[in-house]
Amino acid sequence: MNSLLRGERPEIAGRALSVAPGGEVALDGSRPAAGDGIARELARLVDPSVPADAAERAIAVDQTNTSVIVGERLVVKVVGRWAAADRAAHLLERLAEAGSTDVAGYAGRVDWRHPSFGTSTLAIVTEYLPGAQDGWDWAVDDVVALLAGTGSEPDFPAALGATVARLHDMLGADAVAAPAPAPAERAERARTALDAALEATRRSGGPTAARLANRAEALRRDIRSLGAAAPGLAFDLHGDLHVGQVLRSTGTPPRYTVIDFDGDPQLEAAERGRTDAAARDVAHLLVSLDLVAAVAQKRIGRVEPAAFAWADRARRSLLDAYRATLVRGELFDPALLPGLEGEQLAAELTYADRYLPRWAYAPDAAITHRYPSTDELPEDPWTPPPFEPTST
Ligand code: ADP
Ligand code: MG
Repeated sequence: MNSLLRGERPEIAGRALSVAPGGEVALDGSRPAAGDGIARELARLVDPSVPADAAERAIAVDQTNTSVIVGERLVVKVVGRWAAADRAAHLLERLAEAGSTDVAGYAGRVDWRHPSFGTSTLAIVTEYLPGAQDGWDWAVDDVVALLAGTGSEPDFPAALGATVARLHDMLGADAVAAPAPAPAERAERARTALDAALEATRRSGGPTAARLANRAEALRRDIRSLGAAAPGLAFDLHGDLHVGQVLRSTGTPPRYTVIDFDGDPQLEAAERGRTDAAARDVAHLLVSLDLVAAVAQKRIGRVEPAAFAWADRARRSLLDAYRATLVRGELFDPALLPGLEGEQLAAELTYADRYLPRWAYAPDAAITHRYPSTDELPEDPWTPPPFEPTST
């Protein structure tokens, strides 16, 4: 059930909601937090069966949104910025209407009609998945167990491929032809991403710079192929798909749930609603399997060729299951994969350079492994950084 707040400063749980000229959403000047009753009241607006004294518990706080578990049953995600959840609300609603079980059950949203900003989604309420972990935990655990000989070949790659195909079949029901300049624009965007990664790694001056520079020619070749592909079909994708966006809950078989439909964080907020080719989601997910192989090597503390051998098999199973499950085969053009994967690996390096330098080792491993080197610059072989138990 959806609900609507009205006015410039509507009251929630005794606090006045407001939006700053820059778009920041606040309650009496601060962010909502578990324990203040805001999330519970928002949950009760969409689901009146939530008890008035339901407990609140924090799950994750990032710079833009606040997610709170209410009554161990619902997750209330309150936007940090005006309109930040409009896309996710719209897509989750469409998936719920289509009967998807690949996303968390959708309870509803609370919209806000503001006299000068218009109407936007303030909060999204979904089913809480108890005990669920994201893939940077469960996928890495599975691969580490495989490498240690204590676990068997993980079957999640095929499960993920089928999951994404079902989501694409639903979201792609209203796909339209991409405009004629789409291939040139894709190639240009990927080229820009690679140039940014080359520049960032050169500037920071570590061993990654030479390994990337020696592979730039191979990456450019893949990126150029984007320009030669057909425009194809475009629709509302997930846009930021990687194993960390897939929660696994316990059970036999385990349930995989795709979260976070906020769109591609590499794009400006205004562009995140952009439609794109199905291959973008598939490429990002395939890249994340290589990143899992890198994280697993960090965890076991050595270069282990069996990790990328697993990634090769995992990529094949994911892709086979995706293609076997996808009913609307016309949505997917595999010719886009090499270029979009190259772009995503470059984007991971740039992201690491800007926000999380200790992450660079993972895309570095994948690039070093996947692309042939010109051996122009002297380079050291990739090795995993020391494992710190608190980070991926
Ligand atoms: P943000 O966009 O603010 O990062 P996400 O939607 O990605 O928010 O969720 C952040 C984290 O919250 C996830 O990584 C996951 O651990 C947890 N989470 C999100 N949705 C659920 C859910 N339905 N059940 C359990 N945990 C969830
Ligand atoms: Mg997220």
